[in-house]
Amino acid sequence: MSVDFLRLIPTAPQLVPDTAAQQMTLQLFKSFVPQADRVYLRVTDDVEFVDPGSNLEQIFCPVCLSYLETRWWQQAMDTAYCTRFNELMVIVPCCGAVCSLNDLRYECPAGFARFILEARQPNTELDNSQIHLLEQMLGCPLRKIWAHY
Ligand SMILES: [Zn+2]
Repeated sequence: MSVDFLRLIPTAPQLVPDTAAQQMTLQLFKSFVPQADRVYLRVTDDVEFVDPGSNLEQIFCPVCLSYLETRWWQQAMDTAYCTRFNELMVIVPCCGAVCSLNDLRYECPAGFARFILEARQPNTELDNSQIHLLEQMLGCPLRKIWAHY
């Protein structure tokens, strides 16, 4: 059986909102996905790659929009992993631009975070106004990631 996760992460990988804001935002998020199996938040010591599961397909350069080879990306990820994803800056092979792995154009959004809001089998979509409310409560912009396994 396949399973879907709706994940929300700060756009800044290192950002962890304060505890009170985390809890209030979790309650609000729960109210937006009442049919979910489970809704929770995770805070990790190290930055994690928040993947879209089998939705991870093509990745493009954010500057010149060229397709990035999976092999190049894997190598860049391995190198970044050695720094526990503290160092995400890379030089893209297409146009030589310096950018963050967090800012590559993932065909389905992905990202890096230490703070993750997650709903398992939410059975619904969040609209922009709901995300905006969560952002206001949390005090930072969020990225929405749908993961499919
Ligand atoms: Zn490029």
